[in-house]
Amino acid sequence: MQQSSSSTALRGRFAPTPSGTMHVGNALAALVAWLQVRSAGGTFILRIEDIDTARSKAHFIEQIVNDLKWLGLDWDEGPDIGGPYAPYVQSKRLELYQEALRILKDKDLLYPCYCSRADILSVSSAPHGLSSEGPVYPGTCRSLGPEERARRAESKQPSLRFKAPGRTMSFVDGIEGPLQMLGDAGGDFVVKRADGMFSYQLAVVVDDALMGITDVLRGADLLDSTPRQLLLYEALGKRPPRFAHIPLLVDEEGRRLAKRSRGLSLSNLRDEGIPAEQVVGWLAYASGLLDKPERVQPAELVGHFSLSRVTSRPIMMTDHMYSLLS
Ligand code: GLU
Repeated sequence: MQQSSSSTALRGRFAPTPSGTMHVGNALAALVAWLQVRSAGGTFILRIEDIDTARSKAHFIEQIVNDLKWLGLDWDEGPDIGGPYAPYVQSKRLELYQEALRILKDKDLLYPCYCSRADILSVSSAPHGLSSEGPVYPGTCRSLGPEERARRAESKQPSLRFKAPGRTMSFVDGIEGPLQMLGDAGGDFVVKRADGMFSYQLAVVVDDALMGITDVLRGADLLDSTPRQLLLYEALGKRPPRFAHIPLLVDEEGRRLAKRSRGLSLSNLRDEGIPAEQVVGWLAYASGLLDKPERVQPAELVGHFSLSRVTSRPIMMTDHMYSLLS
């Protein structure tokens, strides 16, 4: 699969879901994405991914914007300043996602699914029925005939699933290196939920494609999504961006840190009087961009930034790492 050529002016983004305040893990993704863009003289975009209305809250948008500014990050296009690809808030872009679904439907790549989560869980309790993200959808509704579909539609609103081909997707991750991952590891995936909401997988691909994003840099928790997103780029006839996944912060047992663990939200650190420069220096040290923790402004890191310096190993939150943040 072809990826964006390096001659294209770099366009990167930070695309938070406003479901809580920013913690140091989010800040790391934002900082490195910003450094990648600024060191290449590219364009940095802030996009708010708020289509999951049950999780997203308007007041978190303001907090995220304030947290990013406090860190010393800025952007060239975004919800507060506009730009050529406005709007930069997903809840205002719903027709674009609907249009993408039309394209996929015309190619016969979608089907309605009437399964509940409990249905899927009961089938997938068999061996190999679980992927790292939960139950693998076994394809139950893919082959329903029109009569059966009509019968089920009488009592249930369906979700829409994408027919994910069982192919191995190869791509080069800017931090992890060359990777090969199954495109359908979780089975056919949902692009529109039964409650009418578009899925993250669909919306993020439509937005990154339409906003001309050349480089997606985000947390390693989203690495499993990348093969599915590559399938959607292909199905929509769009060129995929380059991807790079920043390692997660983990506790000493290697478990992913919970969002609010031990006060690692930026607002908490700020309230404790920790200067933004200390947090930025800590992030740069934790990710391998600085050899020792020192107080720096993001702009001071631009000159010697290289993605190849970013560690690919999970960042372990030892007592020493915590102590550097107090
Ligand atoms: N909105 C997603 C999140 O906050 C990130 C999406 C992405 O970077 O692809 O987890």
